[in-house]
Amino acid sequence: MARVAGAGAGAVDGTLPALPDGPAAMQVWQPAYIGVGSNLEHPQSRVLAAFAALAGIADTRLILTSPLYASRPFAPPAQPDYVNAVAGVLTRLGSAELLAQLKDIESRFGRPARHERWGPRVIDLDILVFGRERRQEPQLTLPHPGIVERNFVLYPLADIAPDLDVPGLGRVSELQGRLAPEGLERLPSTSA
Ligand code: AMP
Repeated sequence: MARVAGAGAGAVDGTLPALPDGPAAMQVWQPAYIGVGSNLEHPQSRVLAAFAALAGIADTRLILTSPLYASRPFAPPAQPDYVNAVAGVLTRLGSAELLAQLKDIESRFGRPARHERWGPRVIDLDILVFGRERRQEPQLTLPHPGIVERNFVLYPLADIAPDLDVPGLGRVSELQGRLAPEGLERLPSTSA
């Protein structure tokens, strides 16, 4: 019987060969886009501080940050305006691990674990897109279901990734073109 080239000794008795060490054993770096928002305690500084916190996540590199936008609250209206932005990272974490890291940053920023759904927040971090991943679970839905209806997500995302194909939804620049920039104001850039 012919042996499969490169199958290794383990294949002969039906067991799988061990994975090699080195580059072939490394996890793949995935691009992910993270929505950042704040409307409490100096929101602009909170968003910039969140960028710095994202840069500190293990096995993750902060690659791109969008300009900051002031936006009117999505709902309910009786709360301060938001500052929103989007960050692009490369990560070797899985999507659930990345979400756990984002929740950890939120709690370090003082956001209570239980909070009013659309209420004011010192920081809000959402995974907008994670590679080509699509999943529909309450604890993690990908791509984020709010992308298509939120100009405060699509405008900053279009600033850093206009050609990104959002799985199941389409190209960012086309999605952005369907939403007016109503209530959205691009803020002058500030050095962190
Ligand atoms: P929010 O109040 O908007 O911050 O929603 C927080 C909850 O949404 C968390 O408990 C998450 O587990 C869940 N969730 C579902 N999909 C996502 C996503 N793509 N990014 C962040 N949180 C998500």
